[in-house]
Amino acid sequence: MISAAVLALAGCASHTSSGAASWHATGSGSAPGDGGQGGGDPGAHPYVGASTAAAAKPEASASASPSASASESPSASASASASASTTVPVPGDGIIRTTGSAAVALTFDDGPGPDTPKILQMLRQQGIKATFCLIGVNVQEYPQYVQQIVQDGHTLCNHTWKHDESLGKKSADTIRNDLQRTNDEIHKAVPDAPIKYFRHPGGNFTPLAVQIASQLGMESIGWSVDPSDWNIKKWSGQQMTNHIVSNVRNNTKPGSIVLSHDGGGDRSATMAAYKTLLPELKAKFTLVALPV
Ligand SMILES: [Zn+2]
Repeated sequence: MISAAVLALAGCASHTSSGAASWHATGSGSAPGDGGQGGGDPGAHPYVGASTAAAAKPEASASASPSASASESPSASASASASASTTVPVPGDGIIRTTGSAAVALTFDDGPGPDTPKILQMLRQQGIKATFCLIGVNVQEYPQYVQQIVQDGHTLCNHTWKHDESLGKKSADTIRNDLQRTNDEIHKAVPDAPIKYFRHPGGNFTPLAVQIASQLGMESIGWSVDPSDWNIKKWSGQQMTNHIVSNVRNNTKPGSIVLSHDGGGDRSATMAAYKTLLPELKAKFTLVALPV
């Protein structure tokens, strides 16, 4: 069993969430906003709130193992009814990293944010469905984008309330409350939309977090392709775009779950990369939203 929990524990552990506590029910979507960003801490998380551009450490390469076996999740019993229609095989550690078929799943994390509508438009133009892993405070700030995601037929995934990368190491009550609060916030925007998936920030899944997510009706999803589009300290501009294109192009194969980001800062490079990648991927693979 690969333990994602031992990886990617650095950085971004501190969050002050008070900035995003208010409910922006009528948010215009154009306001950059400072909702939810950790106040002033050098480790402040850019993945919470839309306006910061500094790189921190979101999903690192924590779940690179493609070792998806076809066994049933040991924690599936608590959510048997909720996950009955899920067709993705769940490996022994309960973390889905591949689609279990030849289809490829694109996943976009850390939104919704100002770039989410543009990414939705790109997907719409190509007729591609994807999966969006949403942060609660960002849902609070941009509920209208959550509605667009659902209207376009994409799948929803819980990415915790404020991207606490160490959430899985906390108490069961803390984990449960965080995930439930996030689901509740999503359902304020889209009351009936299924939320069948959970992705721990940083990929730092713990058995407890996986179990609680399962009890709340969510399968845990990792990834098998990570172009590190979040790592703007390492790459920027055209260099980042080229990196994303080559990484996804070279590593995506039948069954891949591809990680990238629609939130957490300026996503220009991600969007430029997908402008190239979407037609290519579409020509080579069946691209799916994870089943709900
Ligand atoms: Zn994230």
